[in-house]
Amino acid sequence: MNFGIDDLPVRDELRGKSPYGAPQLDVPVRLNTNENPYPLPDALVERIAERVREAARNLNRYPDRDAVELRTRLAEYLTDTSGHEVGLANVWAANGSNEVIQQLLQTFGGPGRTAIGFEPSYSMHGLIARGTGTGWISGPRNEDFTIDLAAAEKAIAEHRPDVVFVTTPNNPTGNAVPRETVLALYEAAQAARPSMVVVDEAYVEFSHGDSLLPLIEGRPNLVVSRTMSKAFGAAGLRLGYLAAHPAVVDAVQLVRLPYHLSAVAQATALAALEHTGTLLKYVEQLKAERDRLVGELRAIGFDVTESDANFVQFGTFADSHEAWQRILDRGVLVRDNGVPGWLRVTAGTPAENDAFLNAVRELKKEQDES
Ligand SMILES: *Cc1c(COP(=O)(O)O)cnc(C)c1O
Repeated sequence: MNFGIDDLPVRDELRGKSPYGAPQLDVPVRLNTNENPYPLPDALVERIAERVREAARNLNRYPDRDAVELRTRLAEYLTDTSGHEVGLANVWAANGSNEVIQQLLQTFGGPGRTAIGFEPSYSMHGLIARGTGTGWISGPRNEDFTIDLAAAEKAIAEHRPDVVFVTTPNNPTGNAVPRETVLALYEAAQAARPSMVVVDEAYVEFSHGDSLLPLIEGRPNLVVSRTMSKAFGAAGLRLGYLAAHPAVVDAVQLVRLPYHLSAVAQATALAALEHTGTLLKYVEQLKAERDRLVGELRAIGFDVTESDANFVQFGTFADSHEAWQRILDRGVLVRDNGVPGWLRVTAGTPAENDAFLNAVRELKKEQDES
């Protein structure tokens, strides 16, 4: 008999559960985790090496616990791209926006408290809730994957959650949530408790519309979370951040680990922020490829959810897992997020997207013939 998890005295709510696990398979075309397909440009790689070399001279010391230079640069980036002025005091950074979300749930959730998300949405919100002992409530969506506002307001009034997650553009469906919907959810959440509203904008740089960052003005219970994993093409760096009222930044200090953000990570992120112009040009290319995927998938005969992200949800399939496997058999890895009937493909390079489109064209033909 093998000794396993169930033989350990793990917390009851973790028993029988599975970890987050997008397959990391070695196939020619990997379009399953919404990564940016373009490696960082050489000039930036050089700059990272320089800044990391400098940081290495002081690795005998703990890093800047408050990441002041990095947060200042992130605040400048947010101000420049949103037209809404934020400063050091509004911004907090951590190891990926997943850690930002974890810190928010450690601060505002926890045992005896609950969080709600409108599903299908980013599965990590529920998983991090579980990890922090926060009760999870799965809120409703319409058939077309938009948020059912009346049902959402009802769920908030009924459950009075401590934290409300709104992912826009939403993952895995791709659609953005209208500003008025977010405002209505904020009002509902304030009337019910009041509770914190976390707007997860991991994909906002790819959106046709604007960031909701200006909504933090006069709304101290609203947090916008962002990441360098997608638009900045730096998923391997692990750098996420939030913008909110300075009181929120003060509050998460209560739970963050001291020196959580390594000096190497801070130096690397600072180098990347010197190259935002170049990095955002890749974003423009990816947006064009995303729009091409939407158009071509529709031309092939698939249903496609409107996308403001760097990925596209398409379907429908009688058996989406089987369709996923048949696409994989052709050397292309897409994502089965467990949304019945639907799959998700990340916009890759033009050549990768062509390979994907050829694979699904063949799949469609097979389906039509059978
Ligand atoms: C990818 C993603 C993130 C990013 O997580 P990191 O920890 O910053 O890599 C956050 N939210 C959503 C909705 C995502 O899809």
